[in-house]
Amino acid sequence: MLTRLAIPTHEELYRVEDRESGLRGFIALHSTRLGPAAGGLRMRVYDGDDAAIEDVLNLSRGMSYKNAAAGLPLGGGKAVIMGDPAADKTSGLLRAMGRAINALQGRYWTAEDMGMSPEDMAEIARETRFVAGLDSGRHASGDPSPVTARGVFNAMRAGAAQVFGTTDLAGRHVAVQGLGHVGWHLCLLLHEARARLSVADMDPARVAGTVKEFGVTAVDPRAIHAAETDIFAPCAIGGILNPRSIPEIRARMICGAANNQLSGSGDAQALQERGILYLPDYVANGGGIINVAAEILQIDDRAPWVEERLTAMQARMTHILTRAKGEGVSPALIADRMVEDELLQTAV
Ligand code: NAD
Repeated sequence: MLTRLAIPTHEELYRVEDRESGLRGFIALHSTRLGPAAGGLRMRVYDGDDAAIEDVLNLSRGMSYKNAAAGLPLGGGKAVIMGDPAADKTSGLLRAMGRAINALQGRYWTAEDMGMSPEDMAEIARETRFVAGLDSGRHASGDPSPVTARGVFNAMRAGAAQVFGTTDLAGRHVAVQGLGHVGWHLCLLLHEARARLSVADMDPARVAGTVKEFGVTAVDPRAIHAAETDIFAPCAIGGILNPRSIPEIRARMICGAANNQLSGSGDAQALQERGILYLPDYVANGGGIINVAAEILQIDDRAPWVEERLTAMQARMTHILTRAKGEGVSPALIADRMVEDELLQTAV
């Protein structure tokens, strides 16, 4: 059921199969140098094994960077289930995945990701204790989105200090793309900070709800990246910063929650050349994993623990931005370098 596959770039990669429930998926542990590999479980339809493997390898590597950037004693891992969450998800399938995770004896901790819910995590928890993102239990961390939004908001303040000379966001015009779990909470924080908001979502009901709640301006979702604002906050999908969108961006700074905002290796440099400050996504959106980490590490007094790490994350962002400015390079490059140095320096 759990078959180890050879992979040079990652510590461990497994194929997970269970004939009875129809489970097909993969678990990847990119690095356990800083601690047990932690990262969510994603369920979606893939165009075959190769596509699923590529996704789990990229995502688990990304988690190593995100956990290190958040200053957590956790490595990077991820799991994927191949299938349609709406049609193929069953208790048997989730429990089979739980047994596979359990067999790794704590080297990998899972949590919620795309296609998964806290109820699904509870199902997995019937088979293993190496699962976080639960709704109930002594150390349950619940929905990470409000903490993710706080981290993004703090990062935005750090960026504003460099671009606009003040951390105060009052009167700043921010374009928020995606009004889901994180985007909505970010709008709330920005509204409280008296920022001006333009928003977009593919779901008209979410737009209507946000306009009603905060009296903001709705923008065509196809044009939100090009809105004439001070800050662009991508909080929806990955790959939004690409060769087509970058020339159209009019904001002076980009800071949002979405994972993998850059579509390719040249995008950070293209933004740098246009004089747009890009705040590395995996540093800005680390609040969610900090929230989950409190559950994995079984922190009893979670609120001050989380707060301390959010503050440290903001300081780290400021440090990255200062170094990037000093060297005249993209903050994305500095963030990658810092994390890679840390991962190499830490003894196994
Ligand atoms: P979500 O699914 O709750 O919300 C995403 C929203 O984006 C939805 O309302 C959807 O309709 C909208 N959307 C999708 N495509 C769009 C488009 N092209 N234009 C405009 N809107 C579009 O997701 P979420 O939990 O709010 O997460 C948002 C992003 O942040 C994702 O990329 C996620 O991976 C990342 N992230 C989330 C967390 C967290 O704590 N939830 C943590 C770290 C990173």
